[in-house]
Amino acid sequence: MRSAALFAAFLLTTTAVATAQTNSPPPGPAPVSPAPAPATPPPPPFPAAAPKLIVAISVDQFSADLFAQYRNHFTGGLARMLTGGVFPSGYQSHAATETCPGHSTILTGYRPARTGIIANHWIDQSTGRADKMVYCSEDESVPGSDHDHYTVSDTHLKVPTLGERMKAADPRTRVVSVAGKDRAAVMMGGHKVDELWWWDGTTYTSYAGRKVPPVVQRTRDAVAALIAKPQAALPLPGWCRPLDRAVTAGNVTVGQGRFARDAGDSRGFRISPAADAAVLAMAAGLVQDMQLGKGPATDIIAVGLSATDYIGHAYGTQGTEMCIQMNELDRSLAGFFDVLDQTGVDYEIMLTADHGAHDMTERQRMRAMPMEDHVHANTLATAVGKAIGQDLGLTGPVLLGAEGDVYVARTLTPAQRDKVIAEALRRYAALPQVAAVFTGAQIAASPMPTGAPETWTLLQRARASYDAQRSGDLVVLLAPRVTSIETPTPGYVETHGSPWDYDRRVPILFWRRGMTGFEQPLSVESVDIMPTLAATIGLKVSGQDGRCLDLDPGPADTCAR
Ligand SMILES: [Zn+2]
Repeated sequence: MRSAALFAAFLLTTTAVATAQTNSPPPGPAPVSPAPAPATPPPPPFPAAAPKLIVAISVDQFSADLFAQYRNHFTGGLARMLTGGVFPSGYQSHAATETCPGHSTILTGYRPARTGIIANHWIDQSTGRADKMVYCSEDESVPGSDHDHYTVSDTHLKVPTLGERMKAADPRTRVVSVAGKDRAAVMMGGHKVDELWWWDGTTYTSYAGRKVPPVVQRTRDAVAALIAKPQAALPLPGWCRPLDRAVTAGNVTVGQGRFARDAGDSRGFRISPAADAAVLAMAAGLVQDMQLGKGPATDIIAVGLSATDYIGHAYGTQGTEMCIQMNELDRSLAGFFDVLDQTGVDYEIMLTADHGAHDMTERQRMRAMPMEDHVHANTLATAVGKAIGQDLGLTGPVLLGAEGDVYVARTLTPAQRDKVIAEALRRYAALPQVAAVFTGAQIAASPMPTGAPETWTLLQRARASYDAQRSGDLVVLLAPRVTSIETPTPGYVETHGSPWDYDRRVPILFWRRGMTGFEQPLSVESVDIMPTLAATIGLKVSGQDGRCLDLDPGPADTCAR
C-alpha cells in the first residue's frame, strides 16, 4: 500500500522503519504511468426550472457550534441538507440575538434595524401599561392585554416577507407558516398568510376567527392524546454517552435528561423533541391537504422548530438532552422530507436558525472556561438607575430596562434626562461585566454596516438592530462569557442575546434535488436568504439589506436569472 508505506516513512522508531522496509516491494522495472481515466462529465448545474414549493425551516437556537459538533452524526434530514449548499458560518449579524429579531431577518432580507423587531420585548413609554413592556408579535392596543397575556399580531413587523413578495407578484401563491412559537410563525409568515398556526402552550392556534383546517385539528388531537399519556425515556445514542454527567446550577440539576415525563405534562412536551415532530407533521399535512407546490404559482411554507431552544434554555447545550434532541431532530426532518418526496413536487429547502447560544455557566466552568459568569445584580438597569436617582436626588424610576435596551424615564425633564444619560454612561463604563454602552444618538449616527460581519465593531452590531422608535436611549452590551441570566431557574439555565459570535453564528443550508452540493466556509448573513431564494424562482427583489448567494458552485450563477 502506497499510503501505508508513506505513513511508515514518517515513523521514527527502528522497528517501524524495519517493518516498512520489510514490507516494501522488491526493486523491479520502473513503474508505467497509468492510462488516463476516462473523462467524467462535470457536475450538473443548478436546476433551471423554478421550484414549485419553498420550504423555509428555522431551528430555534441551532447555533453554528451545535451544527459543527453534531454534523458528523447526522444520517437523516440534516444529512440530506449537508449534500446541498452549506454555509456553516451564517450570521444573524446584529447585536440583539434573540428569537423575534432573528426570525424577522430570515425571510425578509432586512436586518432588525429595518424590520423594526429589535428584541423580543421593548419598552414603549406611551402605552398605558404599568411596566410599559411590549412583546414583539402582539397588538398592545388590545384592551386588558399585557406582554404575557397578549393578542398575537404582525403589526410590529415593518417590512414584507418573501411570501408577501411572492403573493404580490402572483396572487395565486399560497403562504403557510407553522411554528412552536407565535413569534416564529408571525415573523416568517408576514402580513398576508393563507394559514398560520403556532403552539400556544396548550394547543395549536391562529388569529381569531380563522377556520381550523382538518389537518390542524388532527394534529391538535394527536398531540393532546400524546400529552395525556406518560412519556418513557428516549434512547440515548452511543455517541451521546460521554455527555452523560449531572451538573448543578443553583437549585437545578441537569445533564442526564432523557425526556421522560408524566401524563398531562404539556410543558414537558414543549421542551422535548416530540414538539418539533408535531410541528413537522402538521406542516406535512398542510402540504398534502393544500396541495402546496401543485398550483399555478410557487408556494411557500415556513416551519419554526422551537424545541432546540427550549431544550437549550432548560438543560444547556452540552448534556444528553441536547444530544438526544439533535438525533431526534435529524430523524423527524427525514420523515418530513420523505413526505415531501412522496408528493412528487419539485421543492427547495432552506434551513437556518434565529440565533446561536452557548452552554450554561456552571458546565462551562468545568470545561476550561473558569471565567464564565452570571450577570451581577449591580449591572442591571434597575440597580444602575436606582444609584443614579439617589445621586441626583430624583424620585421615582430613572431607568427602565428591557434586555440590552435601557430607557430614561419620560417623567424626567430634558435637563434631568441629560444628566442621567451622562451619569449612566459613566457608571456602565466602570462596570467590569459591561463591554460597551452606547447612546441611541451615537448608534443612529453610525452608518449601517457592510462587509464581513465577523469584523464589525460592537457599535456596528448594535446599529444593525437599532430602531429609533423602539430601541433604548442607551444600549448596554455585556462582556463575552457573561450570561444575562442572573440566577439559573428550572427551565432557564442558559441563554443567548449577546453581540458575540457564539450567539450570532448559525448554519445556513440550501437543498434542492439535482443541485450539486458545495461548502462555503466564509461568512454570509441570514438577510442573504430572502434574495437567494427569490432568485431561484425568478422573483426580482430590491431594497433589502442582504445579497443573493449563488447556489451553483460552477460557472453558472443562480443570482443571474
Ligand atoms: Zn430563539
